[in-house]
Amino acid sequence: MKKLLFSGLITAFCLWHPLAQAQLLDECGTGDTPPELSEWLQKLDHAQLSAENISNDTIWLAAQIFLVHAPTGAPAITLDSLKRSFQVLNRRFAPAKIQFYQAGMPRYIINQIWSNPPDKQIATLMIDSFNLNRVVNIYFTNLGSQGLCGYAYYPNSGPGGPISRGAAMMSYSCSGPESGTLAHELGHFFSLPHPFQGTSGNPAASTAERVTRDFNETAPRLPANCNTSGDFFCDTKADPYSARWQCLSNPATFDINGDRFFADSSLIMSYAANTCRDIFSEQQMNAMNATLASTSASRGYLLARQRPSTSPITVEAMPLTPAIGATDVQPNFAHFNWTAVPGATFYHVRIKRAAIPTMIKDTVVAGTFLSVYDNKMNINTDFQWSVTPYHENDFVVKPITWHDFRTSTRTATNVFENEIADITVYPNPIQQGNQLNILRQNNEPMDLYMHDLQGKVVFTHLLTAEERAVQLPADLPAGTYLIRLQNNVGKSKTQKILLMP
Ligand SMILES: [Zn+2]
Repeated sequence: MKKLLFSGLITAFCLWHPLAQAQLLDECGTGDTPPELSEWLQKLDHAQLSAENISNDTIWLAAQIFLVHAPTGAPAITLDSLKRSFQVLNRRFAPAKIQFYQAGMPRYIINQIWSNPPDKQIATLMIDSFNLNRVVNIYFTNLGSQGLCGYAYYPNSGPGGPISRGAAMMSYSCSGPESGTLAHELGHFFSLPHPFQGTSGNPAASTAERVTRDFNETAPRLPANCNTSGDFFCDTKADPYSARWQCLSNPATFDINGDRFFADSSLIMSYAANTCRDIFSEQQMNAMNATLASTSASRGYLLARQRPSTSPITVEAMPLTPAIGATDVQPNFAHFNWTAVPGATFYHVRIKRAAIPTMIKDTVVAGTFLSVYDNKMNINTDFQWSVTPYHENDFVVKPITWHDFRTSTRTATNVFENEIADITVYPNPIQQGNQLNILRQNNEPMDLYMHDLQGKVVFTHLLTAEERAVQLPADLPAGTYLIRLQNNVGKSKTQKILLMP
């Protein structure tokens, strides 16, 4: 009686959460494994791989984080949230003895189309242009136009070169630490299929993965096919669900033998809700390790990179400019400077209005200097900023020390104080390596600074009194830059330019 009541409750639960109502944005856009990979997965010797994995050392892989946003926007995730996501990722990959560190500081890609690519084809151009060699390239952007949480490329497929093939694409909305999407997409990146592959379309077909694990079933029952169907793993249960499903809602779905499916919602590679997905099975871990370290390792190129040795950061960076409590900070285009910290390779800088939690700036820089060009830093207003040193192996979220400052009362119609009139640079947009012309009335030597949007100076040139053009470097990444021209009494003019590949 009790049992009947319980199953009645489960049925009612399923009626309230029909699988067909799964939200579009919950989807993973990674398709079925290509034929060669399916064949390779079926040939894996799991007994041997399991034995090897016990004695193997942990594999450390460099991950490059790309944060894509529109010129008028910002990444839709905080760096602290991203760090927490990588902590969870490393916890989930720890049983597989695979761990991630940062190849370098996050890179920002500022591009309207790539900030919400309408299809995968358009994003391949970005992956081709930005992928780094011998690292796991992970792009965080908005995949809302495609209705996706994320997708990844299986080994030997996708854009990029032989040692930079493919990528994981993550939608900001599915990238928080509570989401299983990052581990799920990297599972695909390291060869893992969905457990419902080949089964969800027609669970009662002879080709679908059967529930039974008995290879000697008696006719008319059909024997187990878990090693040649589904995800090709026999330690993951047959799974008929290719839409989001709640942890306990296994509806009455039956295979060709009439056996009822009870899929495993704890598998990261399933489409179960985030609250239940948390593990890789032993055979899934074997396959990921074989992708990295066997003689046929398709991602073996990732192992050649040396993990940097780092030491714990024990001191805080101290603010230099603006000084703590400064009240004369230039609005809209302010300069921040702090002390270098031993062991730090990059610095996490935050700026916000006092008493308002929303960040105006949440960014990473490699040096100890940041110019912030932002019209949200209006006049005569209290702000706070903080700087947190960290390094490649550091995903720790640290307490924030806020430093107060106030912008000055100067009312400027233009964001640039102290501006020199009558200077224009052109063409804009301009191609990498081309000549930038400077149209100006004055005849004085000037310093030309080219900043990226994080404020870092990427190019400088001293213009003589006569010079009216400068050759831009060919090796700067495409994107938006600021050209600042300054005379020897500190007056300047800044103009935004778009550098095209
Ligand atoms: Zn997937």
